[in-house]
Amino acid sequence: MTFKKLARLLVASTLFVGTAAYATQAQNKPGRDPNQPIDEEYTKKIREYTTEPFFNSPLTDYLPASPNVPTPKAVLGDVAGAPGKLPYAEDVYRYMRLLEKASPRVKVFSIGTTEEGREMIAVAIASESLLARLDENRARLTKLADPRTINFDDAEADRLVDQSFPIYYITGTIHSVETGAPTALMELAYRLAVDESPYVKSIRDGMVTLITPVVEVDGRNRMVDVYNWHLAHPKENWPSLMYWGHYVAHDNNRDAMGMSLKLTRNIMNVYLNWKPQVLHDLHESVPYLYDNTVGDGPYNAWVDPILTDEWQMIGWKNVSEMTKFGMPGVFAHGNFDTWSPGYLMFIAATHNGISRLYETFGNGGADTLVRTLSPDETSRTWYRQNPPLPRTKWSQRNNNNYEQTALLISLDYFNREQKLFLKNFYLKSRRSIEKPKNEGPAAYVFPADDPRPGNQATLLHLLQAQGCEIHRATAPFTVTVKKKTAAPRARPGATSSPSPASSPPKPAETEARTFPARSYIVRMDQPYSRIADALLDYQYWSPKDPQQDVYDDTGWTFGELSNVQVVRVTDIKVLSAAMDRVNGDVRSTGGTDGIGSIFLVNHNADNSLITLRYRLKKASFEAAEEPFEAAGKKYNRGSFIIRNASADEVNKAASDLGLQAYHVELTPAVKMHVVKVPRVAILHTWLSTQDEGWWRLAFDQMQVPYDYISTQDVAKDSDLNRKYDVIVFGPVGRGINAIIQGLPMYGNPLPWKKTELTPNMGGFAATEDMRPGLGLAGLMNLQNFVKRGGVFISTMDTSDLAVSTGFTPGVSIQRSQRLKAIGDVLRTKFVDSTSPIAYGYGDSLSIYCFNGPIFNVSNVAGGGGRRARGESQRTTGRGTVDDPDVVQGRPPAEAPEPLPSSEVWEAAPITEEQRRNLIGLIPPDLRPRVVLRYADARELLVSGLLDGGDEIAQHAAVIDSPLERGHVVLFSNNPFWRGQTSGSYFLVFNAILNFDNLNAGRKVEEK
Ligand SMILES: [Zn+2]
Repeated sequence: MTFKKLARLLVASTLFVGTAAYATQAQNKPGRDPNQPIDEEYTKKIREYTTEPFFNSPLTDYLPASPNVPTPKAVLGDVAGAPGKLPYAEDVYRYMRLLEKASPRVKVFSIGTTEEGREMIAVAIASESLLARLDENRARLTKLADPRTINFDDAEADRLVDQSFPIYYITGTIHSVETGAPTALMELAYRLAVDESPYVKSIRDGMVTLITPVVEVDGRNRMVDVYNWHLAHPKENWPSLMYWGHYVAHDNNRDAMGMSLKLTRNIMNVYLNWKPQVLHDLHESVPYLYDNTVGDGPYNAWVDPILTDEWQMIGWKNVSEMTKFGMPGVFAHGNFDTWSPGYLMFIAATHNGISRLYETFGNGGADTLVRTLSPDETSRTWYRQNPPLPRTKWSQRNNNNYEQTALLISLDYFNREQKLFLKNFYLKSRRSIEKPKNEGPAAYVFPADDPRPGNQATLLHLLQAQGCEIHRATAPFTVTVKKKTAAPRARPGATSSPSPASSPPKPAETEARTFPARSYIVRMDQPYSRIADALLDYQYWSPKDPQQDVYDDTGWTFGELSNVQVVRVTDIKVLSAAMDRVNGDVRSTGGTDGIGSIFLVNHNADNSLITLRYRLKKASFEAAEEPFEAAGKKYNRGSFIIRNASADEVNKAASDLGLQAYHVELTPAVKMHVVKVPRVAILHTWLSTQDEGWWRLAFDQMQVPYDYISTQDVAKDSDLNRKYDVIVFGPVGRGINAIIQGLPMYGNPLPWKKTELTPNMGGFAATEDMRPGLGLAGLMNLQNFVKRGGVFISTMDTSDLAVSTGFTPGVSIQRSQRLKAIGDVLRTKFVDSTSPIAYGYGDSLSIYCFNGPIFNVSNVAGGGGRRARGESQRTTGRGTVDDPDVVQGRPPAEAPEPLPSSEVWEAAPITEEQRRNLIGLIPPDLRPRVVLRYADARELLVSGLLDGGDEIAQHAAVIDSPLERGHVVLFSNNPFWRGQTSGSYFLVFNAILNFDNLNAGRKVEEK
């Protein structure tokens, strides 16, 4: 046991002693009410499907009978957790609505729809009397959630706490391959509505249990399809669940920051409307029940310590009660660091509630199977004294027993301590509002003169969706801020050398800064200040942190990744600046101004510029290749000159999109090229579609039309240029070989298509057989597409594919030895601002990076020509370091010309000696053109964990590599990630819009 963990355990046990005094109700014994009959047949089946008696508990080893309320059997045809039974979301809803009809203790609410139009629901279960008082209770909870409404009157808060009942919100099956929760929650709803045992009755009489049985509805239905296909083809391999939600798979549980998915928005709205005290999300990947709420360090740095204490209290109560039931494999404190706030449950953690999460065990369907576990899953550790069994038969019913037992224990404990938790809810809300006068900051300011008002509005709008209030200054104001330094001080993560731990950081120097009127202000004296602070602040994860097993991204600073200016202000004076609350959605103002038939739109890399191009399809667009001035306004490179469009349609589009267009009479005198309406394909594999899903999502958000094609389509089409100008290949995450080879061809075909048996599969992507990959034919077709003038855009491992298979002569990838950039925000610099890919950007940009790749460029095909740094330094000999050596006994030779030097991101110039018969010398106009490079090591890290950063520092990040008539645009960063990287979207959009003019501004070397 580490000291850290021992200390935490001691804290946890001390808390238990402390909280006993708060107990408001006597503890009820778990188990049935002998006076209430049980459903004999159902109970028999529970016992039959449970594989060992110790995989059940006195809470779930029976089902109470009800004369009028139907059991889950009414819909399932069998008991919850029965083998072979996986209900579709609609079946689960049908059951919940049967319950609602039969019992006054159940109410079903529709809470929105998914990307594919399927319904999401929330089911409230409590006594009739509590359900009748939902609205008045909501009014009280709303006051506790915003202590400003009661003038921070703690006595009034106590009165409200006394009168209120809490709401515990449970969400199931966000992860579609984790299949047990829906049936467990159907049965739990029944028990809560019907069971007269004192244990369950007191929960029902004391609080509201709110349940969303299926979070990822689109994915659930596809998963049921896959499972049914498996049942119908018992001897065959079955297709893996290639698509869960419409866009992403497992990452649907990483969207609580960017909130790009409808499921996140819908759950957030329930959270904001109902004001629950807990959000408890159910998962299924660890045996047998891992309460990962408590997790491991490092904990998120922005949550209230009151919350982290609550995690310990409820988590350990859970473990200890199930331990007493004799159920093996129940534990907390596994390997889950609690740093990133991107998980769905974290909606509660960052909004003054309590986030909770269970991992239970499942078989990825409803088959009963003998499961053999790995030693690390079954070892006895300090936090897991009664570990899972090395080998046992496991059923979905076992899973449902564990899930329900643990939830009932949590509900019971939470109910008994409800006044404590309600008071904590108030305290956490109060402390969030008191942030400016305690830990700070006082506010974040979004300056009115940000060059990218569109992206600024998008980020502010996200904060609104998070429940934050936004204000706008009505006059200029001056506050003290941290002084901007020319170059950031060296950060320990930037190099591989030991960090300068001996020199403590100096207090930052400050300066007065005046912000213009109409600047936006995100005040920290508001109830949901924590989420704004967590998103807008910087993150630092020490490379020396004891936690070396990083669970997810380590950095996410939203202002940086949105390419939007955000200023953290600790000066409390900012709160008294003249300002108004923004009513309604923040949006940038757009429209037209001036006189004339030509329209000019400045290129500032606001993402809606690409929407404008596709919206005004019939108009002629040109892009300026140099900055210019017209009618007293300055325009950046890439700015649009629009003709053949009516004033009305331009005005309408500009207003809708929040863009400014200016009429002028005369065409500006600047070099320009035509911007066509590019025909785009987004390419996917049948290996993994999640990471490209984030690309698709951004294209859909920006209304960029595209064909969605697979590697199999590319393999079949030898004339891709006929259909497409640009093919975009987002990250796959499976390596080059798998992309080319696909899945092994052993066994049976794996169809992904709509049939009567599988009505939810197919649709937007379908195949008779998922196994074949891109193949060599596909690779040739792609390469020919580029050679004939197409543009191929790749990132991370698809960049590796392009580099490794001959698309990019002159570019090579250096395999990293030490680099540890785990989901970081890194700083990059533009090195060729005349490239169309750089249009609209400034000198530098923060990007999202996950370990590269590290590019090298050369003027010779196949790489080469790179010289080790310092090679031209003098050798050992006479004289000082600047002197020439002298050979004895002959006159000194003429000193050779020093070798021409080059920067890390550049190709080394070819020497005369190398030039002799250099077959691989790339003609100057076809050499790789580096657009963006990583910053120097000392200023590379913006946010997150970076170790060995010198390995990637200064290397090229974005390269335009010509191949005959076309181009490959290689990204080392991932420009589209989890809806968090809107600042780098336009690097890709620029490449698309200027697909046939990527050579614009190019300086061709003489030889
Ligand atoms: Zn999961």
